[in-house]
Amino acid sequence: TFTIAHARSWIDGFASRCDEQKAYLTELDSAIGDADHGANMARGMGAVRGALSADEPQALDALFKAVGMTLVSSVGGASGPLYGTFFLRVGMTSGAVDSLDGAGLSASLHAGVKGIVDRGKAEAEDKTMFDAMAPALDALDASLAEGGDLAAAASAAAEAAAAGRDATEPLQARKGRASYLGERSIGHIDPGAASTALLFDALAEALS
Ligand code: ADP
Ligand code: MG
Ligand code: MG
Repeated sequence: TFTIAHARSWIDGFASRCDEQKAYLTELDSAIGDADHGANMARGMGAVRGALSADEPQALDALFKAVGMTLVSSVGGASGPLYGTFFLRVGMTSGAVDSLDGAGLSASLHAGVKGIVDRGKAEAEDKTMFDAMAPALDALDASLAEGGDLAAAASAAAEAAAAGRDATEPLQARKGRASYLGERSIGHIDPGAASTALLFDALAEALS
């Protein structure tokens, strides 16, 4: 079962990772963007921590709504509305409950990724965060279908997200700022795919 305590620990772990990996995310964005992805994510998730400590939501919809709204309002870059929409949709799909089973968590995460696609129109191999998200959800679902528990499924998702992140390196960007570079975007890992790997690593740790 994925509980509200797991959700809090997921968000907290993601915030810590964004903070610890701020320089790395910014370095990736300095190669193919405007060198602010680390600052954007650290600032946004720092604001999320503040919002959640001021008001501790007791249901998953309220918790994820607070995360999403805070990201949308505190991050100016592309990643704010995209991660913000992800969490808003995760919350809407979770509903006013304090736990989800594996199928419920999967459905919520799929709705979140669909939100990113609705908003940013990314397709596979456009070299975006979607390239880490999509394989993560495939791996989560495959593990659950094999009868794996949530800890195993989340750990498979984290591995797949990291592989998806690495697989963005040889791609030419077709969305976002990096697409302005054309062929010069080849040979660099996408910063948003790297932060998405942190997102799934935090989920795996929360469920371990
Ligand atoms: P900005 O590009 O506005 O400075 P960030 O640097 O915070 O914003 O985020 C950049 C990341 O956002 C990219 O590395 C990419 O993963 C993601 N991104 C940009 N555009 C899109 C899009 N249309 N769909 C999905 N992800 C996108
Ligand atoms: Mg940027
Ligand atoms: Mg920017």
